[in-house]
Amino acid sequence: MQKIPFNKPYFTGKETEYIRQAVENEHISGDGFFTQKCHQFFQNRYSFQKCLLTTSCTDALEMSAILLNIQEGDEVIAPSYTFVSTVNAFVLRGAKIVFADTYASHPNINPDEIEALISPKTKAIIVVHYAGVACDMEKILSIAQKYNLWVVEDAAQAIDSYYKNVPLGSLGHLSAFSFHETKNIISGEGGMLVINDDKFAKRAEIIREKGTNRSAFFRGEVDKYGWVDIGSSFLPSDIIAAFLYAQLENLDNIQARRKEIWNIYYEGLYDLAQKGKIQLPYLPKYASNNAHLFYVVCESLEERSALLAQLKNQGIGAVFHYLSLHKSSFYSSRHDGRVLPHTDKFADCLLRLPFYYEITPKAQEKIIMEIRKFYNS
Ligand SMILES: *Cc1c(COP(=O)(O)O)cnc(C)c1O
Repeated sequence: MQKIPFNKPYFTGKETEYIRQAVENEHISGDGFFTQKCHQFFQNRYSFQKCLLTTSCTDALEMSAILLNIQEGDEVIAPSYTFVSTVNAFVLRGAKIVFADTYASHPNINPDEIEALISPKTKAIIVVHYAGVACDMEKILSIAQKYNLWVVEDAAQAIDSYYKNVPLGSLGHLSAFSFHETKNIISGEGGMLVINDDKFAKRAEIIREKGTNRSAFFRGEVDKYGWVDIGSSFLPSDIIAAFLYAQLENLDNIQARRKEIWNIYYEGLYDLAQKGKIQLPYLPKYASNNAHLFYVVCESLEERSALLAQLKNQGIGAVFHYLSLHKSSFYSSRHDGRVLPHTDKFADCLLRLPFYYEITPKAQEKIIMEIRKFYNS
């Protein structure tokens, strides 16, 4: 039986050529030729104010927490249905995470939950565009403005996605992208910090360069460089950037293919949703679809386990997704005890289907057929 994996990295073919070029350039540390190319690509295509490649989205989030001067005892509002890095970055600075629930209809943070969670200690709201689907940014930004809070977008999954035609990643004060192997555009490990508020630009460079003003030195702005702030080594090798640039050149092609895959799933499972057997991804009017992933939501944990087992039995690599962070072994004792029913529902019932550039129509047909068989028997 031919197995269908959950994920398979797609290579455009140019990656090794560009890596060879980076080697021939004899500049393989950070901020070389390909890093500049990647920064320019993003700044031109999405009008991001300033982009800095990082070694991961996790790093970009950690940089955000430092840039926002998050201190011991500060509070940060964030969804519980997300990857640990979204909030761990802030916990590292001593923040307390105040978790907000998602909508019932889809796994993004529900802005109507946020206002009641704000206290005098609240410093920031972190939003996650789950599956690349935009959060309701107008609502979130207006709450942030009213209470003078920072907004960070965890845009790890949100490349080439839009809120009312505005690119995700350009709406928060700071935004973090991921190029991990499981995302749409990849470099193995990799990420990017987007700075949309000028006042963070200089300090971001310093934090990324171990707390030194080395970037300014290389631009000839200072005549020697030294230790001026806290920081770490957040910049990736130009080898990583070379790989990433080969992907970026193919972004339109990759996105078009992923949307095809997404639509095949949606159409193939639509009537099961109509009959109320499963819930399919919901796209609010203000959100575009970047086809990052495809999921179905089952009725219960038992049903999802049974479906997962049947798919596994057929060699289909379906997987569930996040476990509620407010119930995690690390955070449950720190959580304030509120129940987040929609978060728990998605943790129990959401199932992701195999999704990668090279998945064949035949494989998708088989996956759809197995799911239909499960619900029609
Ligand atoms: C993938 C992901 C991350 C982590 O990205 P890395 O580049 O692996 O650090 C963070 N947040 C979300 C929502 C993600 O999907």
